[in-house]
Amino acid sequence: MKRGMAVIFAAVLCLLVGCAPEEKTAQRDLFSMDTVMSLQVWGEDAQPAMDAMETEIRRLDEAWSVGNDKSAVSTLNRGEALTDSEQLELIARVQALSVRTGGAFDPQLFALTSLWGFPTKEYRVPTDAEITAAMEEHAWDLGAAVKGYAAQRAADVLKDYSVTHAVLSLGGNVQTYGTKPDGSAWQIAIRDPAGEGYAAVAAVEGTASVVTSGSYQRFFEEDGITYHHILDPKTGRPADSGLLSVTVICRDGLTADALSTALFVMGLERGADFWRESDDFEAVFILTSGEIFATEGVSLSGCSFEVIRREK
Ligand code: ADP
Ligand code: MG
Repeated sequence: MKRGMAVIFAAVLCLLVGCAPEEKTAQRDLFSMDTVMSLQVWGEDAQPAMDAMETEIRRLDEAWSVGNDKSAVSTLNRGEALTDSEQLELIARVQALSVRTGGAFDPQLFALTSLWGFPTKEYRVPTDAEITAAMEEHAWDLGAAVKGYAAQRAADVLKDYSVTHAVLSLGGNVQTYGTKPDGSAWQIAIRDPAGEGYAAVAAVEGTASVVTSGSYQRFFEEDGITYHHILDPKTGRPADSGLLSVTVICRDGLTADALSTALFVMGLERGADFWRESDDFEAVFILTSGEIFATEGVSLSGCSFEVIRREK
């Protein structure tokens, strides 16, 4: 009897406050693409959707890893042609992004990144002659774009399932899907590139990619100098553009990832001009001085910042 009363009481309470039946949620951490990923999904199909996303991410890791002989990039780097239409399309899209960014995003820097030891983590500072020689080579490395592509594909997979909301974190890449469970905007923390915790919080509506590229993500030190993993294709050396990190908010994951790397290479001035010529993304720049600049479409809180406007 008591139990029956409790159920009715709960049902009445639900009617009064208008709450929905509890949705199934699933949370999974995995290691892929050389980084820790964390996936969180709400909805009736949360568990099977999670399995499908993990399968898709692992498939793309195999297809695009420079460390896998059978991957699409290894195939291209042996001088062999690709036949898979999805792979050909991705290559065409990264080439277009390279042209769009004036080469600041360059998907063919594998000789250079290898020379600095970034793929193997056997770091060393190369000589000028070695850098010049590696800049002549054009081997594929989609490390600056494939996580964003994978996050987007994982979100696309969710459309086949009864899933209402999801937030996926693939290293520095955050992909949202739908609204936050309470219907409000997602609050995405931007990591403090100079310390612990976060530097700012961006409010993001609906499905979007929020990708951060920063010098803090991978680096080594030699003779007191820090060398990080985002290279300026024009110098063959770590980009020295006065930035610690760039966050891009965009409806497309691949574009977000490629542009966050490109804007890091460009620096604040060129990056702001590039944004003025574009209409498909917003960006947050964190300078080595600690100052924060955000394009006018970003809803930013938790910090003081300057707004970059369309009109100069
Ligand atoms: P992360 O992979 O740490 O999230 P990025 O998306 O910025 O960061 O990608 C950096 C990786 O991309 C490097 O480790 C290297 O493999 C490659 N890379 C470095 N500089 C460039 C560049 N200018 N354009 C394209 N790829 C780059
Ligand atoms: Mg990138």
